[in-house]
Order: sequence, then structure tokens, then C-alpha cells
Amino acid sequence: MTQQSHAHAQAHAHAEAGAEAEALAEIGHRFYSRGWTLGTSGNFSVVTSRDPLRLAITASGRDKRTLRPADILIVDADGRVAADAEAAGRPSAETLLHVTIAQRRQAGAILHTHSVWSTILSGAHAAAGGLAIKGYEMLKGLQGVTTHEHREWIPILDNDQDIPRLAKVADAALVEHPEAHALLLRQHGMYTWGDTLAEAERHVEILEFLFEVVGRTGGR
Ligand SMILES: [Zn+2]
Repeated sequence: MTQQSHAHAQAHAHAEAGAEAEALAEIGHRFYSRGWTLGTSGNFSVVTSRDPLRLAITASGRDKRTLRPADILIVDADGRVAADAEAAGRPSAETLLHVTIAQRRQAGAILHTHSVWSTILSGAHAAAGGLAIKGYEMLKGLQGVTTHEHREWIPILDNDQDIPRLAKVADAALVEHPEAHALLLRQHGMYTWGDTLAEAERHVEILEFLFEVVGRTGGR
């Protein structure tokens, strides 16, 4: 690559990441207002390049209420900060989970929330290895689901501070449950994804709604 075309590519990457960073910051504000990412909890990413894999992702420890585009970093397939990151700071501690989902599901965006209901249900149903949700009209908001009779099985993984190890467990769960639209981490929160950021955000809305219904009714 010539100096000039390299500079051009960098400038282009900036512009792309700028738009994605803005969109992720706005999601932070919306999710904070819904109580799904209080404080510094949760993290969000968008795939900005498939080959080589690049993700725009929230920096570690940023308050989602005040999340700004400058709080978004670009990382590579190893979860390391890639060139052109303007933001200071480290990528989210859970970056490798985002990379794993982006690779295994070919997801375009990955969103992670720490809601009250996902925390409660991921603890209450952990012994069963997952949470089954069926019979609800709102299930049709999940990509590819066309009937309320759909049974969504959301695997629950034990929480783990060893993220490379947790990413391997998550990858195995994604392989074992190819239909799943989300993963729960025990007493921690949810990961969901979509082809686009809009689809991933819709999945958060649908699943958080369903978690609250199941939580309030005991799934009856
Ligand atoms: Zn988390």
C-alpha cells in the first residue's frame, strides 16, 4: 500500500468508526435509561471490517449514561487495540466474548446488558443449564422466528473472570445451540447479537421484555 492510499484508508476507517461510535454511544444512553446498563456495566460492539476482523467496542469502565463516541475503541481478532483508535483507555474486559460471537455467528453487532431480570433468571435457571421461553407473541421479534409457538433456549454459562476461558465455553455453547439468539452469564447478564446494530438492539428489547415477563410470572 502506498503512503497516500494508506492515509486514505486510515481516514476512511476513522469516518466509519466515527459513525459506529456515535451509534454505540446513543445505545448506551438508551439502555442506561431502561436500567439495562447501569453504571459502567455492559458493553457494545459493531463489526467495522470482516477481513481482517475489526470491531468498534466500548472502552473498559465507561459510564453508559455519559458514554461518548471517544469512549469507543477499535480492536482486532485477538481483542487488542488496532490502529486508528482515538480513544484513550483499554477495550472492555469482555472483548474476547464479542470477538467469539462475531466469528461464530457472523454477527454484525453484539450487545451485552446487566439488567435486573437477566441477573435474576440467569441465577434461578442456572442449574438447568439454560432458560426456555415459549408461547409468547414477542418471540416473533427475534430474527427468523415466525410464530409464538417458537421455543427459545438461552444457554446459561457460569460466570468467569478468566475471559479467554469463558470465551471458549461461549463458543462451545454457540456451536451446540445454533438456533440460540442469546447467551446468559450466571448472575451477570446477557449477550445478544444481530446482523446489524439495529437488529441487535431489537433483540435486547425483545429479550429483556421476555425476561421480565418470565420473571414476574414464573413462566406461567
Ligand atoms: Zn458484563
